[in-house]
Amino acid sequence: MSAAPERFLGLVGQGVAAIDTPALVIDLDAMERNLHRLADWCRARGLRLRPHAKMHKCAELAKLQMAHGAVGVCVQKTGEALALAAAGVTDITITNEVVDPTKLARLARAVRAGGTRFALAVDSALGIERLAHALAEAGVRAPGAIDVLVEIDVGHGRCGAAPGEPAVALARAVASHAALRFAGLQAYHGAAQHQRTPEQRRATVARAAEAVARTRALIEGAGLAVPLVTGAGTGTFVHEAASGQWGELQAGSYLFMDADYAANTADENAPGFEHALFVKAQVMSRPEGRAVVDAGHKSHAIDSGLPRVWLPEGLAFANGGDEHGVLHGPALPALGETVWLVPGHCDPTVNLHDHLIGVRGGLLTGRVERVLRVDARGALD
Ligand code: PLP
Ligand code: MN
Repeated sequence: MSAAPERFLGLVGQGVAAIDTPALVIDLDAMERNLHRLADWCRARGLRLRPHAKMHKCAELAKLQMAHGAVGVCVQKTGEALALAAAGVTDITITNEVVDPTKLARLARAVRAGGTRFALAVDSALGIERLAHALAEAGVRAPGAIDVLVEIDVGHGRCGAAPGEPAVALARAVASHAALRFAGLQAYHGAAQHQRTPEQRRATVARAAEAVARTRALIEGAGLAVPLVTGAGTGTFVHEAASGQWGELQAGSYLFMDADYAANTADENAPGFEHALFVKAQVMSRPEGRAVVDAGHKSHAIDSGLPRVWLPEGLAFANGGDEHGVLHGPALPALGETVWLVPGHCDPTVNLHDHLIGVRGGLLTGRVERVLRVDARGALD
C-alpha cells in the first residue's frame, strides 16, 4: 500500500480542525474504553477473547487488542490473514472456509515461514484434504502445524456442516492428518447479532447452544477431545458466554460500535459500548432548506442503513449518492461547518478507507494522536 497521502502528513499533533474531509476518525478515548470493557468482562468470566479483525483490518489495532487480553484475532479471508501476519500479528484464526488450492498454498507458505499461529475453519472433506495437501507441498512437516476448527451451522444458514454426525466425520478426517490439529468447533450465528431484543437473541443462541452441545458430545463419544468452541459477535456474546458452551468469543464491532448495533436493545448484563468510529464531513453546499455534506456512500457503507448525524445534533441524513449527503433539520449547519457521522455498519465502512485518524481528547477539542493504516483493506482473496 502507498505511503500516507499528503493530506495526512504532519497531521499528528494537530487539532481536529486540521483533518481534511471526508475522513474516517477514531475517538481513541471511546475506543479504549470499549477495548477494556470487553477484555475485562471476558477475563472476569475466564473466557478467551479473539476479536474479529475483519472489522478494522488494521495490524496496530489487532496488536492493541492482544496487548489487552485478546488471545489472538479472527479474520475472514486468506488475504486478511496474510496482511496482518506480515505486519506482525502472531495469532490468527480464519473463521471461514478456504478450498481454493492457490489460497491454501499461500496460507501453507505462511505456516512454514513461522512467526504466526494460524487456525482455519473447515466444513468439507475436500477442504480438509486440500489443506493437508497444501501443507505437504509447502514442506510443512511439524505435527499439528495448523489448528483446524470444524464449522457447524448453528442456524444462520451460511457455511458449516450440519450439527451432529456430519461434524463428527469431519473432526475424524481432521484428526487423520498429522499436520492438522483438531482445535474444536467454529459456531457463529450471524443472523442473531441484530435481532433487536435480548429475548430474541437469547432464544436464538439457546438453539445454537443445543446444536453445539449435541455435536460436542458426539465427537467426544467418538474418542476425540473438543478443546474449544469459538464464535459469537457483539450482539450476542453475553448469551454464548452464559450458555457455558463457548470458550472463546469473536466479537469485532464492539471496538467501534456502529449505528446498526446501537439500534439493538442492549442486554441488561452486557458491558456498554460507545461510538468510537466517525466520518468527519463538512458542508459543501447550502441550498435553501438543506445542507449538503461531502460524504456519500463512498465514505461510509449503507448496507445496514444510512449514517446517523452525531454532531451537530438534531439533523437527519438523506442519501445524496456516492459523494454527497443531504442534511435536513431545524438548525442547519453553515457552509464549511464540520459534521460528524456515525456509520451504519463499521466493517465495510473501514474497507473504504486506507487510513484511520486516531483523535485523543474528543471530537470537538481533541488532537490527532496517530494515523493508522488499514493494512488488509481490499484483501478480498
Ligand atoms: N465471527 C464471525 C464468524 C463473523 O462472521 C463475525 C461478523 O460477521 C463476527 C464473529 C463478529 O461480529 P461483530 O463484528 O458483529 O461483533
Ligand atoms: Mn459487521
